[in-house]
Amino acid sequence: MRKPLKDANRGTWHDATCLTHEGAGSNTVPGLLNPPVCRASTIIFPSVEAYKDRHSGYYDSVIYGLYGTETTFSLAQAVAKLEGASNSIIVSSGTAAISLSITAFVERGDHILVADSVYGATRKFCSLMLKKLGVEVSFFDPCIGSDISDLFRKNTVVVFLESPGSQLFEISDIPAIAAAAKNANIITLMDNTWATPLLCKPLELGVDVSIQSGTKYLSGHSDVMLGMISVKSREHFERLKDTVGLWGNCAAPDDCYLVLRGMRTLDVRMERHQRNALTLIKWLQKQPEVLKIHYPALPSDLGYEIWKRDFTGASGLFGVSLQHMGDEKTAAFFNHLTLFGMGSSWGGYESLMVPAWPRPHREFNIPKEDFSLIRIHAGLEDSGDLLDDLGLAFQRLREF
Ligand SMILES: *Cc1c(COP(=O)(O)O)cnc(C)c1O
Repeated sequence: MRKPLKDANRGTWHDATCLTHEGAGSNTVPGLLNPPVCRASTIIFPSVEAYKDRHSGYYDSVIYGLYGTETTFSLAQAVAKLEGASNSIIVSSGTAAISLSITAFVERGDHILVADSVYGATRKFCSLMLKKLGVEVSFFDPCIGSDISDLFRKNTVVVFLESPGSQLFEISDIPAIAAAAKNANIITLMDNTWATPLLCKPLELGVDVSIQSGTKYLSGHSDVMLGMISVKSREHFERLKDTVGLWGNCAAPDDCYLVLRGMRTLDVRMERHQRNALTLIKWLQKQPEVLKIHYPALPSDLGYEIWKRDFTGASGLFGVSLQHMGDEKTAAFFNHLTLFGMGSSWGGYESLMVPAWPRPHREFNIPKEDFSLIRIHAGLEDSGDLLDDLGLAFQRLREF
């Protein structure tokens, strides 16, 4: 039978060890290596006293399917450990993690500051839904640093970060922004999907709420939707529990199982994603059509020094600005790829390449001259095969 894990050792574990051992085993079946998939709606209580008291433990113990079962808590425990969080809540998607965590901390009449570089759905949620709820929203230059305090209003309650940002991958000075916010009694939320909590730990950098789309790297296999919200303080956990529970959001235990299974290999996968990304980038930098690579792990990148200070590695997702291609050239480039798939999401085992359009949404950091932006996710394939596919795309572009 499997030996029980010793709590005494657990505190000193490094991330690779946490990824392989946290959230393992079962409370109910001795010896199981992996947690069982516990599906539930109804939970039967042994006494009227226990039934009356059931809500004291919601999101901590199994009381009703909506608030999680043993499987959900195994994943939450592993995520919390990796994030350095007191608690993590698992929700149905990264988008839900974003909208629910913002909703937990704003009220009608409040003001929220949102990085201009956030994921498209985050921007839409703020511009459409928050405005509808009577919350003021303003977007800020993600490279602003501690000068963000100039933007604070009396009613500012939340700063929302995503670093690096979507599309142009700008790096924010997370500790400087979080410290300025803390000073003004403002809560900082951060979407940490690009780096995963393996390569960046927002809670250690001063952020209050770290958000993850588990759909991406944590799952790693492009077959499941899930989101995580992790917090440092019990008080924030209480606010989040109420919001997530009352909106009725719930992650399926089967999906939690899949993501926990994916997390076991996160460390080795991220290493390969990064290596393949750098191989592709090195080749792309030599192509005359390439104007700029957007990837903070390049010494030439504006965010490089901050990235080196705050992150322990880079993922496989980056942007490439190319000389402007019209619709027909874009079609020639994209329509005959064999290994690179064209589709939303990323973080799975496979390589992807999509066109992107930062205009007209962005307010800051958009170059004036025309350019075409593409987003590449370097998957786990052989990098030589990927270069062959990419080479043919550039050849089609030149022959057009
Ligand atoms: C994909 C993505 C999300 C949304 O996650 P879903 O699980 O697809 O809802 C949020 N933030 C970033 C940065 C993303 O790339």
